[in-house]
Amino acid sequence: MAGLTQAMQVPVFDLTRQNEAIHDDLLAAFERVVRGGHFILGDEVVSFEAEIARLSGVKHGIGVGNCSDALHLVQLALGIGPGDEVVTTPFTFFASAGGTARLGARPVFVDINPATFNLNVDMVEAAITPRTKAIVAVHLYGQPVDLPRLRSIADRHGLTVIQDAAQALGARYDSLPVASYGHVTCYSFFPTKNLGAFGDGGMIVIDDDDLADRLRMLRAHGSKPKYYHHLLGYNSRLDTLHAAVLRAKLPHLPAWIERRRAIAARYRLLLADTRPVRDGLVALPTEVARVEHTYHQFTIRVCSPYRDALRKHLASHGVQTAVYYPLALHLQKVFEPLGYKPGDFPEAERATAEVLSLPMFPELTDEEIEYVAAAIDAFEPPVDPAA
Ligand SMILES: *Cc1c(COP(=O)(O)O)cnc(C)c1O
Repeated sequence: MAGLTQAMQVPVFDLTRQNEAIHDDLLAAFERVVRGGHFILGDEVVSFEAEIARLSGVKHGIGVGNCSDALHLVQLALGIGPGDEVVTTPFTFFASAGGTARLGARPVFVDINPATFNLNVDMVEAAITPRTKAIVAVHLYGQPVDLPRLRSIADRHGLTVIQDAAQALGARYDSLPVASYGHVTCYSFFPTKNLGAFGDGGMIVIDDDDLADRLRMLRAHGSKPKYYHHLLGYNSRLDTLHAAVLRAKLPHLPAWIERRRAIAARYRLLLADTRPVRDGLVALPTEVARVEHTYHQFTIRVCSPYRDALRKHLASHGVQTAVYYPLALHLQKVFEPLGYKPGDFPEAERATAEVLSLPMFPELTDEEIEYVAAAIDAFEPPVDPAA
């Protein structure tokens, strides 16, 4: 393995390389919008909605301000409110549960499967009550949750499956796009996601015509046509400029995901041969059968007393890493009124102490991957991990 003699700086994420590679296409997209004179929704957004719906295997695409709004608006459109419950994972970004709570409904957490970091589907049924209306299924790090089973549980209990696919645009289960497993799927185009805008952006994809119609109204103050208001909605629309940028990037998405998967494979191969992995201090991520993981993140587990020490060691060698996420949702201050306590979801809590995401973006070079692996190989676990 390559040594550490040659010091490098490896960012955890870097968009400038991608922008450089497609610079002319981005400028052409800007030019179209500058000359088009349309800045909110418009033809660019309509075309982009159709493109994302098509690649999702779903009828309608509805561009919104961001994925957090997408999740919130979907639950609003479904009539979820006070007295209702929505089952989800406590090991995710805040928005997976925030939209439920903002409607006065109760997020009901279910622990994760330690192998995948996703909802433990075996435990979902026990959390369902007569008040349960939906399940928010998060595909964390880009790996789909067990959709066929989750869908059959939901169908048995008459629940809606809301997919939080913020990290999983392009992911497949049994060769089908995750969104084709229904009922409704939310994407994020936050700049660091696998397909990123030049600011906030999101989309809802859905087959149901009536719900699609309601969602189109809800993103624009409940109006149809403009100035005629049927519902109490929000102002949450996808901007024309973002749609133009995203359309310039979209043709590259399959190759970018392919490269992420190749980087993950290279990490696996190189890391398997490092001392921390051989000694059982570091565990590599599991890719389950039947899925196509998009590797939004390549997240290792580090025995908890050593996670922060390894992170510091890597930083000292110029390797940036990230922790997604450091605090489980049931222990967040804002959710105190839900009455959860430490120990309620042991696997989610263990994950918050152990996860470490390595540099991952399609433009990462083979040399950088080798350097990251060599830096991990050189890690000496401290005698006193707290120091
Ligand atoms: C990024 C993210 C969101 C929120 O997306 P925004 O577009 O930033 O609102 C929701 N859920 C998950 C799992 C995410 O990673």
